[in-house]
Amino acid sequence: MRFEIVTIFPGFFAGIFENGILRRALAEGLVTVGVHDLRTFTHDRHRTVDDRPFGGGEGMVLKAEPLAEALDLLGIKPKTERESGGDAAAGTRVILLSAQGRRFTQAMARELAGLGSAKLDRVVLICGRYEGVDERVNELYCNMELSIGDYVLSGGELAAAVVVDAVMRLIPGVLGNEASGEFESFGVADAEITSDTEGVPRSQHGAGGLLDYPHYTRPAEFGGLRAPEVLMNGDHQQIRRWRREQQLRKTLANRPDLLEGAALSAEDRRLLEAIRREAR
Ligand code: SAM
Repeated sequence: MRFEIVTIFPGFFAGIFENGILRRALAEGLVTVGVHDLRTFTHDRHRTVDDRPFGGGEGMVLKAEPLAEALDLLGIKPKTERESGGDAAAGTRVILLSAQGRRFTQAMARELAGLGSAKLDRVVLICGRYEGVDERVNELYCNMELSIGDYVLSGGELAAAVVVDAVMRLIPGVLGNEASGEFESFGVADAEITSDTEGVPRSQHGAGGLLDYPHYTRPAEFGGLRAPEVLMNGDHQQIRRWRREQQLRKTLANRPDLLEGAALSAEDRRLLEAIRREAR
């Protein structure tokens, strides 16, 4: 998998991929990242990448020509040509980071990591600045606009780093524990998880579309609070049940919207009802 990032601030990414899992994935060649300075694709003395908006108003807009030239150098043709361009083009996704985009989710991260229906090998991320990017770049080249949340950042660089991080860790071989991408918050539905029913529970038990449960480690007592006794008694089934209940509690408290799409068993529904009654 290769990520290509097009930005006017390439220096932003210095250091960002030099820690933890990302550094290891790069060092092992599981993933590569190219950072491309948009100013390289300008031809005037001032290396101009922006201009005033048609129609007037505040701020500046990133020009289409340097971006088109950058994409051309990366071998990215306009969408219409790509669609008829065979396998190489089919494996590429061009993404415009934008507050106006579809909200980035774990499901999209899985798609981009090639775990969905399409086999992808290249993700191109275009970082906007100022008021944004000339819309024709989106129309001509981008497969989608992605927003990392309902707030406005000053540039797409942070958003691109978030997307790279979330996608990269799902690429097979990147995480030490292969299963942990499935067994965490927003993980795949329980129906797809068959491997954690017996023996020592995984540190992350099937999230099934719910949030993860709380985690504890030594010391058993900290700040006057004791870690839950159930986690220390070695009863694996009890631990699984406790963790599932905690997932339901946390999701109900922090993200009740997720319960609608979650794979819930009859036991889950009984537990949820009991938790709701408790709160009344
Ligand atoms: N005028 C734009 C609007 O109101 O939607 C905001 C432009 S913002 C100041 C500059 C750039 O930051 C955008 O072009 C985009 O690349 C990036 N950006 C801002 N918020 C973002 C978000 N929530 N997700 C992804 N990218 C974002």
